[in-house]
Amino acid sequence: MLAADYRGPGRVRVSSKPDPVIQHPRDAIVRVTRSCICGSDLHLYHGLVPDTRVGMTFGHEFCGIVEEVGSEVQNLKPGDHVLVPFNIACGQCHFCKQGLFGNCHESNPQATAVGGIFGYSHTAGGYDGGQAEYVRVPYADVGPTLIPDWMDPDDAVLLTDVVPTGYQAAEMGGIQMGDTVVVFGAGPVGIMAARCAWLFGAGRVIVIDREEYRLDFARRYCPAEVYNFEEIEDMAVFIKKLTDHLGADVCIDAVGGDASGSAIRTLLGKKLKLEAGSSIPLHWAINSVKKGGIVSIVGVYGPTGNMIPIGNVLNKGLTVRANQASVKRLLPRLIEHVREGRINPKELITHRVPLEDVGDAYHMFSAKLDECIKPVLYPNR
Ligand code: NAD
Ligand code: ZN
Repeated sequence: MLAADYRGPGRVRVSSKPDPVIQHPRDAIVRVTRSCICGSDLHLYHGLVPDTRVGMTFGHEFCGIVEEVGSEVQNLKPGDHVLVPFNIACGQCHFCKQGLFGNCHESNPQATAVGGIFGYSHTAGGYDGGQAEYVRVPYADVGPTLIPDWMDPDDAVLLTDVVPTGYQAAEMGGIQMGDTVVVFGAGPVGIMAARCAWLFGAGRVIVIDREEYRLDFARRYCPAEVYNFEEIEDMAVFIKKLTDHLGADVCIDAVGGDASGSAIRTLLGKKLKLEAGSSIPLHWAINSVKKGGIVSIVGVYGPTGNMIPIGNVLNKGLTVRANQASVKRLLPRLIEHVREGRINPKELITHRVPLEDVGDAYHMFSAKLDECIKPVLYPNR
């Protein structure tokens, strides 16, 4: 089969690889029809995730058609159209039983924090991902979810990560009716978090980024008030001015350790020095939220993202919540939101790309070229 192939930092290309096979009776093989590139893939692409091995196939946001199932799989059969959550979850461990599918122990027993994730390095279990014609899906009775007949697969593929992550960001924010919510990052995740903030009763939604085309998109789609952080001297002072000098009720970090390096460049411009993988958006979130407020983190931080103003967390009495999205837990209500038209995921897709052009697609998404918001690969077209 053809599959994306990681060749080292900044290098992904398409290669011919052996077809995946059933390795366990609970596995399925899925023939991939759509596979996105995610901001999380950029951390891998830039070599920021430990134990990312050359030859790995990335891709944790995909949907497709079941090709084959193992002898113990009961809920799926060949020919089923499924969307596959990015978390690999056994469905039976202590954490899965609590709905913490992103923290499954069985799928990644070596790790103390994260569960298994498709195509996300050996730190997340070493599973190959879905930027390929075929993919092996472990615990196939647990994650894969039938795509309803009425649903466009372009919407379905975004339910594997971006929509649930944005939704969970808003949910973890504990938004109360009328709250002012500030979202840092106007990537697909931040845009979706801002959109979902309204569903939880926000009264005002503000989105911060530096890419004007993304801010324009957020202004229309979320809809949100938008600001370019390159034009802001002091973020906390700025947000306070917008909020009667109190600060925001909820701040959401949808950036994480900045894979594209944009935040690092900005801080260097202001004569501050932070290392790659630094925590600038998180500083801004902590310092811009009001006393007693909530900071919700969905941006992913690598090992160096630990320069956090923890003293301010204490002195302001903040609640900080963070996690990988538990996709499976959220799917029933998200499918309902899509059916009712309250969320229109596929509007985020700006580029539909053949698998063969995966290398160019990574470059475009990483460098924010051609007004790219969400690129989707179409293997088996
Ligand atoms: P993306 O790279 O497309 O978007 C990130 C955006 O943040 C960019 O538009 C960038 O210009 C902007 N940005 C950079 N520095 C900023 C700053 N200091 N303040 C405000 N904006 C800033 O990525 P994405 O696909 O939207 O993903 C966003 C983050 O969410 C990534 O860290 C990704 O790994 C993470 N993520 C987490 C989960 C989860 O389950 N927790 C799931 C998916 C993605
Ligand atoms: Zn993702």
